[in-house]
Amino acid sequence: MTESSLSTIAARLGTIRARIAAATTAAGRAADSAQLVAVSKTHDAEACLEALAAGQRIFGENRVQEAQGKWPALRLRHPDLELHLIGPLQSNKVADAIALFDVIESLDREKLARALAAERDKGKRLPRLYIQVNTGEEEQKAGIGPKEAPAFIALCRDSLGLPVEGLMCIPPVDEEPAPHFALLAQLARQQGLPAISMGMSGDFEVAIRFGATHVRIGTAIFGERPKAAP
Ligand SMILES: *Cc1c(COP(=O)(O)O)cnc(C)c1O
Repeated sequence: MTESSLSTIAARLGTIRARIAAATTAAGRAADSAQLVAVSKTHDAEACLEALAAGQRIFGENRVQEAQGKWPALRLRHPDLELHLIGPLQSNKVADAIALFDVIESLDREKLARALAAERDKGKRLPRLYIQVNTGEEEQKAGIGPKEAPAFIALCRDSLGLPVEGLMCIPPVDEEPAPHFALLAQLARQQGLPAISMGMSGDFEVAIRFGATHVRIGTAIFGERPKAAP
C-alpha cells in the first residue's frame, strides 16, 4: 500500500467522524453517542494499522478466519482495540470467535445461542452479543424475523442467560432504509437493549437520526472492496 492511500484512510476517517458528530448533534444527541465501527473486511493489516494510527479503535470483520489472520498481531500493539464480528457465525467456529471478538453482532438462531451458552458453561468468557434482526424478512438474509425477535431475545437473555446487549440489522439493498431503522430502534427500546447497530457507508446519517448507537462503515473509510467479496 502506498503512502498516499495510507493517508487517505486517515483523511476519510476524519470526514466520517465529522459527519457522525454532525448527524448526532442534528438529532439532538450527544456528539459521542454513536460509535464508529470501522469495517476492515478484505483490507490488509497495513490499512488497519493506518486507521489505528489515526485513533480508530473499534473494527468490524465478517469472517472469523480472516480476522484470525490479521487481528492477534494488531492487538499486541493496540491492546485497547475492540473487535466486532458482523458476519454470519457457524456453530463450529464459535470457540474461535469468542476467543477473538469483543462483540458478536450476528447472533441469529437458536443453535448458535445454545452453542454460545455451552462455551460459557465450559467456563469461557463470552463476548457481548447483539441479535441480528432480518427487518426486511428477506429469505436469503441471516437474522431473526421481527415477529420472532421478542421470543428469541427472551430465550437468549432470560432462559440461556447470554449477555445480549443490542440489536443489529442490514436493511434490504433496494429499499428505503428508514423504516427498517425505525423498526430496529423500536424493538430495542421495547426490549430494553441499549445497543443499536445499523447504518453503513451509504445511509449512516439516516441510521443516526433513528437512534443508531453503532454505525458500521467500510467503503467510505477503506475504499472499494474487491468485487467478489460480500
Ligand atoms: C460490509 C459490511 C458493512 C460495511 O458496508 P459499507 O457499505 O462498505 O460501509 C456493514 N455491515 C455489514 C454487516 C457488512 O457486512
